[in-house]
Amino acid sequence: MQIPAIGYGIRYEFGIFDQAIRDGWQVEITDKWLRYGNPWEIPRPEIAYPVGFGGQTHAVQDAAGRLRVTWTPESVVRGVAYDTPILGYGVNTVNLLRLWQAQATESFDFQAFNLGDYYGAVNEKIVSENITKVLYPNDEQLGGKQLRLQQQYFFASCSLRDLIRIFRQRALTLDQLADKFAIQLNDTHPSIAIAEMMRLLVDEYEMAWEPAWETTRRVFAYTNHTLMPEALETWSLELFRRMLPRHLEIIFEINRRFLDQVRAGWPGDEARVARMSLIDERGGRSVRMAHLACVGSYAVNGVAELHSDLLKREVLHDFYELEPDKFHNVTNGVTPRRFVVLSNPRLARLIERAIGPGWITDLDELRLLEPFAEDAGFRSEWREVKHAAKQDLAALVAARTSVAADPNSLFDVQAKRIHEYKRQHLNVLHIITQYLRLKDNPAAHITPRTYIFGGKAAPGYVMAKLIIKLVNAVAEVVNADADVGGRLRVAFMPDFNVMTAQQVYPAADLSEQISTAGKEASGTGNMKFSLNGALTIGTLDGANIEIRRAVGPENFFCFGLTAEEVADWKTRGYDPSSICRDNAELRRVLDRVADGTFSGGDTVLFRPLLDDLLHRDPFLVLADYAAYVACQEEVSRAYQDHEHWSRMSILNVSRMGRFSSDRSIRDYCRDIWHTQAVPIQV
Ligand SMILES: *Cc1c(COP(=O)(O)O)cnc(C)c1O
Repeated sequence: MQIPAIGYGIRYEFGIFDQAIRDGWQVEITDKWLRYGNPWEIPRPEIAYPVGFGGQTHAVQDAAGRLRVTWTPESVVRGVAYDTPILGYGVNTVNLLRLWQAQATESFDFQAFNLGDYYGAVNEKIVSENITKVLYPNDEQLGGKQLRLQQQYFFASCSLRDLIRIFRQRALTLDQLADKFAIQLNDTHPSIAIAEMMRLLVDEYEMAWEPAWETTRRVFAYTNHTLMPEALETWSLELFRRMLPRHLEIIFEINRRFLDQVRAGWPGDEARVARMSLIDERGGRSVRMAHLACVGSYAVNGVAELHSDLLKREVLHDFYELEPDKFHNVTNGVTPRRFVVLSNPRLARLIERAIGPGWITDLDELRLLEPFAEDAGFRSEWREVKHAAKQDLAALVAARTSVAADPNSLFDVQAKRIHEYKRQHLNVLHIITQYLRLKDNPAAHITPRTYIFGGKAAPGYVMAKLIIKLVNAVAEVVNADADVGGRLRVAFMPDFNVMTAQQVYPAADLSEQISTAGKEASGTGNMKFSLNGALTIGTLDGANIEIRRAVGPENFFCFGLTAEEVADWKTRGYDPSSICRDNAELRRVLDRVADGTFSGGDTVLFRPLLDDLLHRDPFLVLADYAAYVACQEEVSRAYQDHEHWSRMSILNVSRMGRFSSDRSIRDYCRDIWHTQAVPIQV
């Protein structure tokens, strides 16, 4: 896209854990990705910034009689830059991914050394370098994790100071910062940058509060990535004050002025003031980072139309009423370079032979494929490409699981993080349903299927780990049953990551996108599958809605409650046990899980999962069960007609152009950053 941009992040020593499966359970293994070095990065030891933590603040009068606050941190860590060049495709632009690594400061060692405390100094070095040791998965329960807040501030502070350094190479003053830069906050994780920008402008560059706030509010924009309430970050005041005393003062001042503005708009509405405050006063007081991100930004966006609507209607409704023009939608996209050209070269070659290479940089050109849906020869080649990808994946699955997947069966794939809202357990209930039907009638004619699961559970997420165990338990019984005779196979492929994903997406016939409506912000796996010729079975959630509209409802297997119906059921009082009472087949499926059929007679193992489904079922798995099973029957019937299935698959791909990351970036450029391509001539 030739956009001048820098991506900032943390150079973690350990990325997300590698997943192994032992006895059906997830085991986490440290990812030592730097073990053999990293040839793609360029260390930049000359680009480094000190970052303070803890200590005290002092208010003093300066020479001009103005109040100045100085912050004396208790400890200081250095952030050192490591650059990874990101090359544009077929253009001369090279963007920078600049990652910060924590390094103990020399002065720190030196002080301790002078006091004769050598081991103390070494220990301080270890403690400060811990900041960039390990990544917390974004669905891990963070409750008061001090190291996580340290990481966020460390990364935000280094990045802002780097940005200001680059800006000051021009003959401009800091109040012009927002004319030259936009800072896009990728979720609330870096939102402490808003308070840090105020501290830098007011305390270090001695700008008055009002112009500093004006500059801050003109430079930041915020992308919200989730509606799940537990993912909206809050930090206790106690932790905040201990680690970032000056930032807490600044947040209080931002809040005081902001709440005055709310009171002016809604006199006497103290309930609204309490809802919108940057400080949650209920229970232990805490800072609401999403509110800070909203108040400190000139633009707020969600990542799919439904998600952006729900932000305006629910999660950020008060903020929308205050500043409706600030809210936008930018539907996510995926890069066709990685997720088609690189990962599915056979498909890329077939498409290129039909319509040329223009689609690689202008994905809307896939439209030119539409007439080929009616070309029997092309459909046959299309099937051969899919078959070859299925053979490749079957080999990978066999190597990693000892499950033999038949490439002639329908590959039904659910690969994504394991989470209750994504409802891998709904998929499992359907597998058990099919299994029990086959046990009743082993001679029945069915569409042979291979169910492939992949995904990591957050290390602290007990229920997600139990769902992995359930998939493997069902796999063991179904795969070994002579009555099934290999017509159903179930495999849990360990260690789903971007590398394995590149082999999974091309091989799917059916893409499982079955989250509870209103819970999946966008999804991008849905796009990668569809762009690789899989048909989708999905709920009206996230970007599924837009994908279905684009490919046509006749080419999309849609089922289940809408977001509105989910909300209605919840307000009316949802009772999962009554659904069970009315559905004998569902009752039998749950009974077989309870009676130990899949756990060697163990009736305790899956009790937590069953109790949750029968008594709470917060993600309405049972409410959507019957519609899901019926929709899967439709899928099985449709797959029998290979020619028609191929037609639908080709039409899916030809209508997916909108879901290119290029279109997403174009939307950000036009609606939020107000920036343009800067071609680099050589
Ligand atoms: C695309 C991708 C995801 C996101 O998948 P969803 O189905 O949108 O949740 C997760 N993990 C990996 C490795 C991916 O490539």
